Amino acid sequence: MVAPHRDALATLAVHGGAARDAHGSPNPPIYNTTTFAFDSTAALLDVIEGRRRGALYTRYGMNPTLYALESALAALEGADAALAFASGMAASAALFLALGRDGIVCVGDAYGGTLELLGEQLPLLGIKTWLLQRDQLDRLDAVLAEGAGLVFFETPSNPRLELFDIAALAAIAHRHGALVAVDNTFASPVNQRPLELGADVVMHSATKYLGGHSDLTAGALMGSRELMQAVGGWRRNLGSVLAPETAALLSRSLRTLPVRVQRHNASAQIVAEAMARHPRVARVHYPGLPDAAGHALARAQMRGFGGMLTLELHGDGADAAAVADRLRLFALAPSLGGVESLVTQPCTTSHHDLSAAERQRRGIADSMLRLSVGLEDPDDLVADLVQALRAGATSPADERR
Ligand code: PLP
Repeated sequence: MVAPHRDALATLAVHGGAARDAHGSPNPPIYNTTTFAFDSTAALLDVIEGRRRGALYTRYGMNPTLYALESALAALEGADAALAFASGMAASAALFLALGRDGIVCVGDAYGGTLELLGEQLPLLGIKTWLLQRDQLDRLDAVLAEGAGLVFFETPSNPRLELFDIAALAAIAHRHGALVAVDNTFASPVNQRPLELGADVVMHSATKYLGGHSDLTAGALMGSRELMQAVGGWRRNLGSVLAPETAALLSRSLRTLPVRVQRHNASAQIVAEAMARHPRVARVHYPGLPDAAGHALARAQMRGFGGMLTLELHGDGADAAAVADRLRLFALAPSLGGVESLVTQPCTTSHHDLSAAERQRRGIADSMLRLSVGLEDPDDLVADLVQALRAGATSPADERR
C-alpha cells in the first residue's frame, strides 16, 4: 500500500486492514473456527515456533480475521502492532497484569471499572497502585522513584473531560524507566494519536467510537511489537481474545471511523456552545470551548475535541435525573460513541460504585449529566436538551426559554 499522508486517516481506515481473500472480497472473511489444520508436522512447527505467521488456534489470536482487524487497529494509532480483546476491561486487565506488576500509577479520573480494578482488585494480588489526581501530580516523581513501572491515564478523562499532557507525562515516566499507557477511548485515533506524543501503549474500549454503533463489545491495545508480544502471552492464557465474528464487525466499523468522528466533533461543539449559554447549566465540560481549562492543551495535542461533553446543572442529583428522564432523543443508557445520542448521570452509572466521598474528592457532582453526542441533526439534539431543561425549570425566567 502507498504510505498515506500523515493526516490521511480516512485512507488508513479504509485500507489499513486490507486483506483480500483468494476470491477478492474487500472485507476480511470471518474465519469462524477454533483451530486450523496443517499438511505436515513441519508446517505446524513453522507456525508454532514463529518461522511463519500463520493461523493456528483462535484463542491464541492466531486467526486471519483477527490479523486483519489488528493491522487496521495498529495503522490507525500509528503502532507496529495491536491486540484485540473481548472488551475494553479485558484489554486493560491484560495490560496491567503484563506490564504493571512493578506498580501502576493512574493519573486523573478514569472509567469506574478501571478505578475498581486498580484501586481494589489488583492490590489483592499484591500489585501496588497509586491513584493521583491532578493536584497530586507533584507526587508522581516520588511514586515512580518507588519503582512503579506503568503510568496510565485517560485524556480527555471520564466524566469531567479533563486534559492531561501526554508528552509531558511521558517525559517524566521515561526518566524513571516507566512505561506510559493512554486510554484513548474518548478521543479516538481520529482526534488524538498518543504514540506520536510519546506514549508506549494505547488502550481502547472499542465498544465505543471504534465500534461506533452500540452493537459490539471489544477492546484493543496498540504499541511496539515487543510490548504487544509481552501482553499477548497474558491474553492467550486469560482467554480474553475477541471472537472472530465480532472482529469482522469491528473491522467493518473502522472504515467509517473518521467520517463518524468528524460529525461527532462538529455536533458536540454545537451542543456544548448552546448549553454554555443555558441558564440552568452551571458549567459545560468540553475541551472545544475556549474557556475550558484544557482548551489550550487540547488544541496542541488533539486534532478534534470529540463527541463527549458533561453538563453540570444548577440543582442536585434529583434535578439532573429529572432532566435525563425527560430527554427524548438522548437515550438514558451507559456507554458512548455510538451513532445514537446517549445521556448518563455518572453518579448512577459509570461512577456509581465509588463512595460519595470519593466522587466528591474527584469533583464528580451528582448534578452532572454526561452526553455522548450522536449523529442525529445537532439542532434536534439542542432542541431536545432545551425542552428537557425547560420542563424542569424552577424560575419564571427559565420557564420562558
Ligand atoms: N475506558 C473507558 C474510557 C470507558 O468509558 C470504558 C467503558 O465505559 C472502558 C474503558 C471499559 O470498556 P468496556 O466496557 O468495553 O470493557
